[in-house]
Amino acid sequence: MILAKNNYKTLVRSVEWQAPIEKQKELLSMRVQVEEIKKKKESCHNRFEWKKKKPTDLNKVKQVNDKEYHWCPKHALWILHKPEECKLAEPKEETNRSNTGENKWRLANSG
Ligand SMILES: [Zn+2]
Repeated sequence: MILAKNNYKTLVRSVEWQAPIEKQKELLSMRVQVEEIKKKKESCHNRFEWKKKKPTDLNKVKQVNDKEYHWCPKHALWILHKPEECKLAEPKEETNRSNTGENKWRLANSG
């Protein structure tokens, strides 16, 4: 009855290892959940990466999810408005205006 003895041994061994295996499974499922969250975050991040890629043809229109995207040089992004419809203030104009204002103030107070 060597065969029966061996079966008994393997049975005992499997019972002995049951607890750690359960714990391992628990840890593994936790790890899988963490990995899934990481993957979701990455895919969300990658979903918007294309918006930063400047096209060679700036007048090109991109169709994504039934929406038309235009390259906006002010935003430096692919965006739903046309560049000429952009409401973002030109940063250069802003600094020029404040500079001339400061120069006027200086001139008025220099004499
Ligand atoms: Zn814009």
